[in-house]
Amino acid sequence: MKIEGFQTLTLLDYPGKVACTVFTPGCGFRCPFCHNASLVLPGRAGAEVPEGEVFALLEKRRGVLDGVCVTGGEPTLQPALPDFLRRVKALGYAVKLDTNGARPDVLRALAEEELVDYVAMDIKNAPERYAETAGVPGLDLTPIRESAGFLMKGGLPFEFRTTVVRPLHDSDCFQAIGAWLAGDEPYFLQGFQDSGDLIGTGLSPFGEEEMIGFRSILSNFIPNAALRGI
Ligand code: SF4
Repeated sequence: MKIEGFQTLTLLDYPGKVACTVFTPGCGFRCPFCHNASLVLPGRAGAEVPEGEVFALLEKRRGVLDGVCVTGGEPTLQPALPDFLRRVKALGYAVKLDTNGARPDVLRALAEEELVDYVAMDIKNAPERYAETAGVPGLDLTPIRESAGFLMKGGLPFEFRTTVVRPLHDSDCFQAIGAWLAGDEPYFLQGFQDSGDLIGTGLSPFGEEEMIGFRSILSNFIPNAALRGI
């Protein structure tokens, strides 16, 4: 599998686990607030990390690390993802997958083969503003709806999460997201932070009070809605 970043230790990325994180290049979206632009935009690729380096660490850190996070970019675009995860699972690690939900077929296949233990799916925005927020004019939301529906119906632990950024979000967005995804799933609203490696410009974070207000709107539909990193 193509890997272009490897963080050997994270206490934050995988809830309740000590993990490492692998970053895969490429994504079909162009979210202006994407904080890994160099992984997403053509011609800005970094050095490839050999799979062998990852597996050498996983062998060595057995019993120290519990999990492996696979993030991107969009990992489900990698044809070799299932093979990679089979090897990770064979070493006894739990797997967390970050996805934008654009490949429900891959998500379903990975779940059926029990190659993932936890999924974090981005919900970019209300359906009416999804294309704009994903940076893809005319984006077909059918696969996104299918992935979200699969997670909400299935037995796989998961979370939804939204990076909240001005000027892409407002109160109406969270009213519409709540109506769309009402349920008892974990849903995190994350504040925008400028990583210095963004796709777009003209973005800024909301203040704490505004974030609390958005959570309050969402929690009318999704009682488990929470703020993260605020
Ligand atoms: S933030 Fe958007 S563009 Fe960046 S990797 Fe995720 S889905 Fe792709």
